[in-house]
Amino acid sequence: MINFFDITLRELEGLLENLGFKRYRAHQIYKWVYQAGVQDFDRMTNLSKDLMATLKGMFHFGLPVIQEKVASKDGSLKFLFSAEDGHVVESVLMPENGKSTLCLSTQIGCKMSCAFCVTGRIGFIRDLRVSEIVGQIMAVRPHMGDSRLTNIVLMGMGEPCDNVENVIKAIEIMEEPLGLKISRRRLTVSTVGLVDGLRLIDQRKVQLAISLNAANGQVRTKLMPINRVYPLHDVIAYVRSLGDMGRTRVTFEYVMIKGINDSVEDARLLAELLKGVKCKVNLIPYNESPYADFKSPAEEDVRQFQSYLLNRHFTAIVRDSRAIDVGGGCGQLGMRYLQDRRR
Ligand code: SAH
Repeated sequence: MINFFDITLRELEGLLENLGFKRYRAHQIYKWVYQAGVQDFDRMTNLSKDLMATLKGMFHFGLPVIQEKVASKDGSLKFLFSAEDGHVVESVLMPENGKSTLCLSTQIGCKMSCAFCVTGRIGFIRDLRVSEIVGQIMAVRPHMGDSRLTNIVLMGMGEPCDNVENVIKAIEIMEEPLGLKISRRRLTVSTVGLVDGLRLIDQRKVQLAISLNAANGQVRTKLMPINRVYPLHDVIAYVRSLGDMGRTRVTFEYVMIKGINDSVEDARLLAELLKGVKCKVNLIPYNESPYADFKSPAEEDVRQFQSYLLNRHFTAIVRDSRAIDVGGGCGQLGMRYLQDRRR
């Protein structure tokens, strides 16, 4: 049996065509599942009995199972799912004025080992399948109340560019006009900058967010060991090579950590590095956790850092993480794995 949430519309068309059905049947089925929310072929009333029977023998609608749903004071919801093999996947839903952003995971654990990130501390467990990435959306959807799902960010557990094939397919399903209809302008992939994987994902023209976190190579290597393989300058060169493609700008994420990368001198290095690059800078004050010794920056230092960039005509915003009180902030996902190990 195939998990329905693993296949793209093109693949479904191909499968049905091979079985002697018309391709447009795939469009009808896709609309039922992704737009009408129906997960039962018997209820797809515009299909023939013959086709219904074939589909029932071929597909199931397995979704990650919600194990816990934790509400933050700020209105966000953190979902803990259990996958088929019992592993835990986390997503965070962030409503604002009737619109919601959903932060999805792409892997269980992560290979990148960033020194400041809880998920990095877990190590790598496995890639999420397409159906587990898309499945987070399908499983959360019934819990959204009146708010509309407008934005998706691939910023949860894992490194999207290290699970490229599945992430690309998941994006295709999310963007499909006959499916989830999420516009590429509202779909953001956040990456440490694995340039080779990034190049492939970028062909889908989604919004890019690149985690820089330091403008000095040595500091970045300490925080993000992947900098040895894909150094800062390669990452910036890639973004420069994109030139002006008429689409919105690349975002650079910069986690500010006290005494490590939060001085005005650091801001100066960053401004120098990004000179002439069409971009936005998101400053993210570090979220502390019991699993790393780093500290959050002083508010005053964040303000000065931001002012330095603003004065040099950069777009720089301070992004306060949401759901921190429930362990759902940036870099906090997967805490449960480390708690279990301590016991
Ligand atoms: N692997 C991807 C996506 C997951 S991390 C990436 O690195 O971009 C999403 C963002 O959270 C990254 O910008 C990361 O630098 C940031 N982050 C990680 N740990 C954090 C923490 N403890 N506090 C604040 N931001 C953190």
